[in-house]
Amino acid sequence: MPKINSVQTHLLRVLSLVYRHESISRTRLATSTGYSSFLISKLTERLLKGDFIREMGAGESSGGRPPTLLSINPGIGHLVGVHMGTINLRLAVTDMCGRVLAHKIEKSLVDKGPDEALNHLLETIFDLLKAARISRHKLSGVGMGISGLLDRERGITLSWPKVPSWANVPVRSFLEDNLGTFVEVDDTPRTMALAEKRYGKARNSEEFVYLTFGAGIGAALFLHGKLYAGQGGFAGEFGHTTIDEHGPLCSCGNRGCVEALVSASIIIRQAEEGLAMDLSPQLRLITQQNGGRVTLEGISSAAQANDRFCLGLLLETGVRVGTGIVSLVNLLNPELIVLGGGLPKAAGKWLLPSINRVVQERAMQGPSSQVSIVLSDLTEVDWARGAALLVSENALRSALLKAVGS
Ligand SMILES: [Zn+2]
Repeated sequence: MPKINSVQTHLLRVLSLVYRHESISRTRLATSTGYSSFLISKLTERLLKGDFIREMGAGESSGGRPPTLLSINPGIGHLVGVHMGTINLRLAVTDMCGRVLAHKIEKSLVDKGPDEALNHLLETIFDLLKAARISRHKLSGVGMGISGLLDRERGITLSWPKVPSWANVPVRSFLEDNLGTFVEVDDTPRTMALAEKRYGKARNSEEFVYLTFGAGIGAALFLHGKLYAGQGGFAGEFGHTTIDEHGPLCSCGNRGCVEALVSASIIIRQAEEGLAMDLSPQLRLITQQNGGRVTLEGISSAAQANDRFCLGLLLETGVRVGTGIVSLVNLLNPELIVLGGGLPKAAGKWLLPSINRVVQERAMQGPSSQVSIVLSDLTEVDWARGAALLVSENALRSALLKAVGS
């Protein structure tokens, strides 16, 4: 990486602060950086001239003349965010302020193998750029969240138990070679947590845990406002916390992990067993209307219609999730835990009361009195928007260095 001079360093610092705030005054920029008002005035003038930032109108006055607020120019770059799960692929093209210009949700094709799935992804990115009327040469970066175990530094999938053909696939270099832009790859709980921090309920939280419950179970830890990765980048394997040492075998080889007890497929299987024993008349009705398929949404609707079996199943699931969360609360003392993914989306309102009850009963009094547990209200398109955040600051940095020279 070429060396950058002190003017570039100052410009980058100010640009990054403007980016991290929806809008910010020059006075606050001076306080946050420690730069003089004169220097801030010169730097912002240069950023305004280069179209990196724009003036937004007046903010709140603290006595004198109301300050003019600055924000990022949304058109200074365009990003693609990708969320590739085992079942679905979600994509979004955004401007630099995260506004969605085009999006798509479709089958991910990961089960067809890496070649077919990645070529399909590339075609879909080209289609979306066309729909958003953005030339592929104007693309500033691609951020991608992907399920499976990753070497995040190199953007390679190490393994993906549900689709074994994805061992050692260089996802990042495939996209970089074909798109000629920055690409960053990270695992899906982390990119979903980025979305939650920027657009969701964790906007004002520095210490929070994001948990995702779907086909698999994952976690991302935000400590002191930053994503925590652990020594080797593997932090957040909440799904493999043991909550019942005699419980069922898990895909990791252990018994009684959270994932072995409350993943979407396990809950659906338990509901199917209930149906086979004729325990759930409401779910039978709903499933018949759904072409014979048991879904999480169906289980939730049956609970809504007061089906005792489904109410019991979701209550028991909430107790199990809560039992796993007790350890997180005791260990990390987070201010907020956000529950996202398919299960909370479909049935969160049935899970939350028992989760809260278990946490209040079993976690230490100090941390349990300080934590709020909430359901995410972000959409699947927001998950893709969150992945784009992996590259946003790098894209800004590169555009700025290109514009101001070295
Ligand atoms: Zn496990």
